[in-house]
Amino acid sequence: SADLNSPFARDIAHHIHPQTNLRRHEAEGPLLIERGDGVYVVDADGKRLLEGMAGLWCASLGFSETRLVDAATRQMRRLPYMQTFAHRSFDPVVELSAELVGMAPAPMSKALFACSGSEANDTAMKLVWYYHHAIGRPEKRKIISRRRSYHGTTIASASLTGLANMHQDFNLPLAGVVHVTCPHHYREGLAGETEEDFAARLAAELEEVIEREGPETIGAFIAEPVMGTGGVVVPPRTYFERVQAVLRRHDILIIADEVICGFGRTGNMWGSQTYGIKPDIVTCAKGLSAAYFPISATLVSQAIYDAMLAESDKLGNFSHGFTYGGHPVGAAVARETLAIYRERDIVGHVRRVAPRLQDGLRRLSDHRLVGEVRGVGLMAAIELTMDKAARKPFPAERKVAGHLAGAIHRRGVLLRGLGDALMLSPPLIIEDAEIDVILSAVAESLDETQAWVAGGFG
Ligand code: PMP
Repeated sequence: SADLNSPFARDIAHHIHPQTNLRRHEAEGPLLIERGDGVYVVDADGKRLLEGMAGLWCASLGFSETRLVDAATRQMRRLPYMQTFAHRSFDPVVELSAELVGMAPAPMSKALFACSGSEANDTAMKLVWYYHHAIGRPEKRKIISRRRSYHGTTIASASLTGLANMHQDFNLPLAGVVHVTCPHHYREGLAGETEEDFAARLAAELEEVIEREGPETIGAFIAEPVMGTGGVVVPPRTYFERVQAVLRRHDILIIADEVICGFGRTGNMWGSQTYGIKPDIVTCAKGLSAAYFPISATLVSQAIYDAMLAESDKLGNFSHGFTYGGHPVGAAVARETLAIYRERDIVGHVRRVAPRLQDGLRRLSDHRLVGEVRGVGLMAAIELTMDKAARKPFPAERKVAGHLAGAIHRRGVLLRGLGDALMLSPPLIIEDAEIDVILSAVAESLDETQAWVAGGFG
């Protein structure tokens, strides 16, 4: 029948959706999106939906940036593919490398390309091992990460990730990844503990973990400046300063995962600038190409590159790389994206509009359901609670943030609920009037969700 041939039915029949409850998906089916229009996407029924998450935090320039389409098309016509293995290179990759190294949040020496943030973090992990091996400390292989972090979905990057649900099905993390407490003051802070005391306690915990594991076994610490997927966890002001002091004392490299925070999201070009992080390795993706083509990069310091060079003298080839790493079309799109960020002063735009979003959300703080509103730049979260005074979380199975996101969707805005956190990360080009659309959808939906909670979730 016509119905069975509909894209909707065909999707259910043939497509596995990642990060999706498969049984529920079979019952409910997908949200079919047909096209993009600025910060909006349009579904199969012709309904315009404001994409308040920019997809997965990545479509920083929205969904109809013709300059990026043109850049991709020009490059496809000129040279659609060439490898960067074995001494081959070409214009957009050469130039993109120089631009990224030149704009990095700390002195960097070289860029190495892949297609996804997960691959960039896998690459970083291998480079940590390679570096310590090269300088005669091959046992320095463990990586410290934080609970609630998200670093990717490959086996190594999912191990770095600190979300229990990413581990339980697959018996991860791999040995050699150690997780410490994340700087989530609202959930991890002790009663009455100030943010600064909390930061000091986490630095002391890190010191203890390093001593327990043996500093001679720890190669690196990886961190998102602001944890995105884990619920937009904004660190206390002195957190990174304290943590970095501990890491430097034990000669532990710092990997800044700038996959979400990079390219303007926090109101600076890099989240590392916002929080005073001085990384040895930077990974980036998403906003690098504004999501118009998959490309990611791992940037390394001069010391790391020097060690790689020395190792290369001994071993020959550097045995790591992806077929599509340094893809010419991705590199061309990334160069054009960076040009747009510069020419339109996208970071300046974020600084101008972000207070409207952040202040507007904070005005919802008194709502019964709202435990905390947090955020920086154009990333934010509303943490829901059953009991404001006791900061009591809702039972996980109620999926209250997901319910809230559903109510917001019915009002024409796409946001993401995960655990008790409703997350926001609109395209960086969002304007005031569009922020207001989000704010009123959130406010009305909070009331609707409160009625649902008060009615016993029915
Ligand atoms: N790091 C961070 C901070 C991320 O948010 C993500 C993706 N959400 C990744 C890494 C992994 O990127 P990808 O999905 O492109 O592999």
